[in-house]
Amino acid sequence: MSLTHSWIEREKKVHIQFYRRLPVVFERGAGCWLYDVEGNRYLDLVAGIAVCVLGHCHPEVVEAVKAQAEKLMHTSNLYYTIPQIELAEKLSEITGMDKFFFCNSGAEAVEASLKIARKVTGKKKFVAFTRSFHGRTMGALSVTWKEVFRKPFEPLVEPVVFAEFNDVNDLKEKVDESTAAVILEPVQGEGGINPAEEEFVNEIFELKEKYGFVVIFDEVQTGFGRTGKWFGKDHFSVEPDVMAMAKGMGAGFPVGGVGVKEEIAEKLGFSEHASTFGGNPLACSASLACIRVIEREKLVENAEKTGKYFRERLEELFGNARGLGLMLAAECENAFDVVSKALENFLLVNATSESSLRFVPPLIIGKEEVDMAIEKLSKSVR
Ligand code: PLP
Repeated sequence: MSLTHSWIEREKKVHIQFYRRLPVVFERGAGCWLYDVEGNRYLDLVAGIAVCVLGHCHPEVVEAVKAQAEKLMHTSNLYYTIPQIELAEKLSEITGMDKFFFCNSGAEAVEASLKIARKVTGKKKFVAFTRSFHGRTMGALSVTWKEVFRKPFEPLVEPVVFAEFNDVNDLKEKVDESTAAVILEPVQGEGGINPAEEEFVNEIFELKEKYGFVVIFDEVQTGFGRTGKWFGKDHFSVEPDVMAMAKGMGAGFPVGGVGVKEEIAEKLGFSEHASTFGGNPLACSASLACIRVIEREKLVENAEKTGKYFRERLEELFGNARGLGLMLAAECENAFDVVSKALENFLLVNATSESSLRFVPPLIIGKEEVDMAIEKLSKSVR
């Protein structure tokens, strides 16, 4: 039995089988490349699902984590710690939000956002959109569209209504005086890379004026340069009240957060939300290093520039492509088969449905790697 298969057998015996994994066991990574236990090298266009924005094991993040681990890893939020304060200051600069809460994942960031919306409005109803994905915990799941994810776990948080994404008329029918929040991904990720249209986003903000709900932008997948701007919201001329973030925030280190405007923060008080691990010194140091590298190496600009080139090359190959920056997709037949074929060609890609491939590579990717990826992809679609 190969080394790979012996690990897979061991996993089957001891893991709940929630994941349909591809048959590869990774051992290490560097830049845009991952290495399996057999010594094979793979070009990674998945980046841990839009997480490893600096590629794998960026030396500056590794160094920051090492240094912080030797100094202080965890104290709880009963006390103040320096990296947490510095991270909030830095995020305030790059997001335009005023105050922050830290957690450990995207779903937790969404949970906190929903609680904040209910607390500050005193209202109950959440309006989410068709093809949305916000996470698997009970609150986040309640505003996630796919019924197969939700159905087995009902009753979930109520009331939740789903409006058609990018449909102004449907939106107008679904929001009202009882709405606590509208939650939106600026570019839907798991739903297949669907950018929100400007007119639609503007309408959300007009309705907010009328009804007084909170607008939550779920930037878990779109944040930290992914779309060719720092955040998905930067493609529009509006500012959300609440922003949920995670994924790219720690360059592979698990960390999440919620940013809010001052007028929201003023209405929140002691004990209304908390996390034991949230904002620990280790995670915050990783995130600070991640942001520093994104800034210094101009990776937001690279996401825009290389994203454009990548999109053109995808269009050549598939006759279609969509998305923003390095958050791209292409329609094709048998997308899941393409993913398996690509693996045989030592390329990691991901499919969001039977007909849609998703590309969310590290933001350090260059033209040369894109060309290599296209060559491997063209061998995988045949
Ligand atoms: N929100 C969005 C937009 C996501 O894409 C995801 C994960 O894919 C989540 C929330 C949930 O994040 P996590 O898996 O870290 O809980």
